[in-house]
Amino acid sequence: MLLDALRDFAALVMPVACAGCGAEDRALCTKCRQALVPQLTHHSVDSLPVVSALRYEGSVRRVVLAFKDHGRTDVAAALASPLAAALDRAIHEHPAAQLVAIPTSRAAYRRRGYDPVRRLLIRGGFAAPRVLTRTRSTGSQKSLALADRAENLVGALAARRDLAGRTFIVVDDILTSGATIREAIRAISAARGEVVCAAVLAFTPRLLPMRDIGGGEDYGKAKGAQR
Ligand SMILES: [Zn+2]
Repeated sequence: MLLDALRDFAALVMPVACAGCGAEDRALCTKCRQALVPQLTHHSVDSLPVVSALRYEGSVRRVVLAFKDHGRTDVAAALASPLAAALDRAIHEHPAAQLVAIPTSRAAYRRRGYDPVRRLLIRGGFAAPRVLTRTRSTGSQKSLALADRAENLVGALAARRDLAGRTFIVVDDILTSGATIREAIRAISAARGEVVCAAVLAFTPRLLPMRDIGGGEDYGKAKGAQR
């Protein structure tokens, strides 16, 4: 309540636009905050199960873009919460696996000053060890056709050390073609580790079939062993 009061006061002296719809409000208006309530869905990349918290469209998409491309780190907590729900589900199914965040490119890190997936993990109270590194610049994936994205990413990631005998849950922000997750699987396998599952903040609905697995709120409350 005190935090809410402080935010209201801050909004009075420094007006903020909602990151989802632009309404003059707090960092997120009530309607856009509602759009961030997790609705867990199950996907697969090849045979790997992927849990997603949100649909990447409408205000969800705008909030994510505001966080990633427009410096709106004030919405990090609001995005960390649905990602945590997807992670709790993945950890529940694979309690021995460790989390591995997809690292941002060096160019994007320089531009933003932070690594989005890592920032959300830490904000959600999860351990975010640096397991993977970018070995070369891949440019922006956004302008590429789906088939080209996969090719563009091959060899872009590498493990920082030998991962023999260890299992991992890959964590990323947006699931589009699955190319990034495939590249993470390749890099982790090359270091003798095994990826058992992936968890993402949101999936791109126009490109991916989905299966609703429900239970987002219940799993959101369960505390994973890695927090
Ligand atoms: Zn809004």
